[in-house]
Amino acid sequence: MKIRTKVSTYYVIVFVLSVFLIGVIVLHLFKTYIIQNTITRLSDQVYANSDIFIPSSNWDNANVYIENYAENIAINLSKNNLHVRIYNRDKLLKDASSGVILEYSFELSNLNDAVISSLEGKNAYFIENDILHYAVPIRYEDSVVGVVEYIYPLSAEENTIAFFKRIFFISSIASVLIMILLSIFISARITDPLNVLTDAAQQFSEGNFKKVEIDTKDEIASLTDTFNDMAETINNHIDNINMEKAKLDMVLSNLNEGIVAIDYMGNILFKNIRAIQIIGGGIPEDLKFLIDKAFESGQIIKDLHINKRIIRADITLNNDICIIILRDITKDRELEEKQKKFISNASHELKTPVTAIIGYTEMLKEDKEYDETIVEYIYGESKRLKDLVIELLELSRLESIEKSIDKTTVNIGHMVKDVIQNMASKSSKFNIVINSSIEDEIVILADNSKIRQVVINLIDNAIKYSDPGQAIDVTLKKEGRFSVLSVRDYGKGIPKDEMDKVFDRFFRCSNSYQIYGSGLGLAISKEIVEKHGGTIEIEKDIDKGSKFTVMLPMD
Ligand code: ADP
Repeated sequence: MKIRTKVSTYYVIVFVLSVFLIGVIVLHLFKTYIIQNTITRLSDQVYANSDIFIPSSNWDNANVYIENYAENIAINLSKNNLHVRIYNRDKLLKDASSGVILEYSFELSNLNDAVISSLEGKNAYFIENDILHYAVPIRYEDSVVGVVEYIYPLSAEENTIAFFKRIFFISSIASVLIMILLSIFISARITDPLNVLTDAAQQFSEGNFKKVEIDTKDEIASLTDTFNDMAETINNHIDNINMEKAKLDMVLSNLNEGIVAIDYMGNILFKNIRAIQIIGGGIPEDLKFLIDKAFESGQIIKDLHINKRIIRADITLNNDICIIILRDITKDRELEEKQKKFISNASHELKTPVTAIIGYTEMLKEDKEYDETIVEYIYGESKRLKDLVIELLELSRLESIEKSIDKTTVNIGHMVKDVIQNMASKSSKFNIVINSSIEDEIVILADNSKIRQVVINLIDNAIKYSDPGQAIDVTLKKEGRFSVLSVRDYGKGIPKDEMDKVFDRFFRCSNSYQIYGSGLGLAISKEIVEKHGGTIEIEKDIDKGSKFTVMLPMD
């Protein structure tokens, strides 16, 4: 129900109830007043008649007096169209109407309530069928010897009351109608500003924040002021948000990276211009596959071929929303390829001259004419250069091999034991003990010499980067369909912030510059292991030394 209807209805209900209540009270009082007035009039008439005052005499005379004078009293009191009955203590004595004595029947001799009360000394009345019975005692000294009863039809008074009722009813109806109109007008005065506010709030919810003008000075005016203040504050906030959004849009659209946000239903929530340039309007199938995986595992970084370009997709999950950063790395890849090609060519070209230098230096070593230390130095450095060239060529070859590699059945347990045995002399030189726990019968499909090279590299590094007297633990076991080799040492270890780079080519840790190395061994090992479909990882959460784990599939 509308407020306007409510207010009008309440007003009218309250008014009608009040009018009804007032009407009932006023009519009751009016009726009482009219009856009292009639009673007073009749009383005055009785007391004006001298016959009811019995002269002093004894009790018997008083009774006789009443009986004698009853007719006189009745005739006198019934003049002016009145009806009067006179009683002694036992019975009706006379009944007169309009100054004429009436014959009375037996029933009339019954004393009614007013008469009985009056015989006890009181003026009394009762009304029956619109007829007033009013009784006044006739006294002799302190005793009541008789009663005068007026029988007075109230028709004239009832007519007056009925007339008054009619007037009251008509004026009530008129005032209720006026009240209805007035309440409609008043409720409109109250609700019109509310309607204006409601309209404004409606517009507000549609994003149209305009000021509301209302011509009142009451509570609604302060509500309007508050409403306008609120609109202004929200407007300011929205302006700020829009400004921030414009800045963010500008930054995001000028980024070199494509950014896409996707919810778990696969809906694209956001895509910047660069992302559209890279992947177009939709999401390529390869990327969709990665996104599904990211929703399961959390984060994925993978290079994809999209529209003849190499795109690095970095996918992270944030509160059930997948954020995808796309970077076109085609040029980086080309540059990398060029570098690799250059290194491969250079090392290829270097191999023959370095071998020649080593050959000639060996000859010079025989010749006593040259300073032995210098020749030895040249010889040593040339050998290192040759090792480096060989490693570089090895790496280039591995990188150029397409996925597959020549595999034969290899008992890796035997191979690891053999490597440990071969390296025992080197480790004992540094007083380093190699503890091993090797499961014998682990057979894998692999390129024997290459996997051997990985094992040698890991154990060689462990010896190289340990201090004399320390131990190395080598373990080999099966785990599901993988053989798992781990090499753990307690040496200088690898700084935490450099752990991610140890498999990069030429990377050497900041704490190992005094120890000779090319920074290629782990890069080659990684390349070999991955070509076998395996993984090589470094244990990140370690107290002292380092631990490398190689997992190779057995099938
Ligand atoms: P390098 O010929 O320099 O040993 P690698 O590729 O084998 O080259 O290793 C790369 C770098 O990783 C090393 O220079 C060294 O700093 C670090 N490293 C490798 N293995 C270990 C190890 N067991 N303990 C400490 N540092 C190591």
